[in-house]
Amino acid sequence: MSTHPSRALVADATPTPLKDARAQLAEAVKILGYDDGMYDMLATPRREVTVSVPLRRDDGSVELLVGHRVQHNMSRGPSKGGLRYSPTVDLDEVRALAMWMTWKCALVDIPYGGAKGGIAFDPREYSRAEIQRVTRRYTSELMPILGPTTDIPAPDIGTDSQVMAWMMDTYSVNKGFTIPGVVTGKPTQLGGSLGRASATSRGVVLVALAALRHRGLEPERTTAAVQGFGKVGRDAALFLWRAGVKVAVISDQYGSVQNSFGIDVPALERHVDESGSVVGFPGADDLPHRDDLLVADVDLLVPAAVEGVIHAGNAESVRASIVVEGANGPTTPEADRILEDAGCLVVPDILANAGGVIVSYFEWVQANQAYWWSELDVEARLKERMDHAWERVLSTAKSRDVSLRQAATVLAIETVATAHLARGLYP
Ligand code: GLU
Repeated sequence: MSTHPSRALVADATPTPLKDARAQLAEAVKILGYDDGMYDMLATPRREVTVSVPLRRDDGSVELLVGHRVQHNMSRGPSKGGLRYSPTVDLDEVRALAMWMTWKCALVDIPYGGAKGGIAFDPREYSRAEIQRVTRRYTSELMPILGPTTDIPAPDIGTDSQVMAWMMDTYSVNKGFTIPGVVTGKPTQLGGSLGRASATSRGVVLVALAALRHRGLEPERTTAAVQGFGKVGRDAALFLWRAGVKVAVISDQYGSVQNSFGIDVPALERHVDESGSVVGFPGADDLPHRDDLLVADVDLLVPAAVEGVIHAGNAESVRASIVVEGANGPTTPEADRILEDAGCLVVPDILANAGGVIVSYFEWVQANQAYWWSELDVEARLKERMDHAWERVLSTAKSRDVSLRQAATVLAIETVATAHLARGLYP
């Protein structure tokens, strides 16, 4: 398989998520005609906490990690958002991700503001016992600002339901009683919701299929590339495959695999469970470079990994006609413009990947009431909200003659600003 000529351009560009998030905000504020004061208020988090997380390693040595929690906005309710364990974590990244959470919750009308947390370390290089100690110490450092009515974490890159169980336990032990509503994405035995683990992917595929219909494409005649085979990409690939889409290219952090006739996704899942990576899957060819996936000749591209992967340096080489953002912030504003000029439909993250936080909201509602819904019920309610959000964004894009991203951001910011103005400024 030959290397795409533009590959040299693909790998560069350091992501600057906060700049990107603020550029998107500035554009929406301009469309809405709000003043600089409103921009400043929305561009700046309400609260940021940075904590030291001293860790005793298994060998007895002590390492000092740094963690953050940023609460971007609480005008519409407690702040909500994931916790990320990754070496890329820094305060600016967490600020951007927190801001996107505010817009996401507003867009799909769930009663939360936005937050995000992160610890700068690579969990793959630590034992489970060490990760447990990191999680418990981080949680106890943040006790004063977390809580089911104040700020509710959930899984993100590098964290999972077990990490949420440790957070819930640490918080509860310190309070003296079990408080399942303090985190979402917990194991179902501890008050997690059925359908939460696959909710982001389910939502991504619901809007991807709606976007295909909108563009007059039939799933059975459509090819797709999915970047990332983790919490979002893996089930997104599976649900696309189940819907009849030919998933031709799939990547993870180690590499990309391609089969133009369509990858047998369940077989790839078995390969990944055994080997730890998509690379070397017998039912597909390994691509020379992981990021060749982004410029593959497919109809639908689903970036479901990290921020800033589609940028000014590679956007012109993207051949998909629809991009559905499973990740947060995968497309930079410059790339957005290039894709739009090329007629590519970009379904923005705050719409496309909102399924996760929607079912987090369902989990929180169930936990607070101690009354559990069936999986069918969760899925039906998720679909109703995703379909409704897609229709609203699409009709706003048409009526305002703007992109789907601008429409989604405008709708979300208007919702937050209206709540903020109705509450008034204190004092
Ligand atoms: N980390 C996920 C996101 O970025 C889920 C957040 C949540 O459920 O609170 O949307």
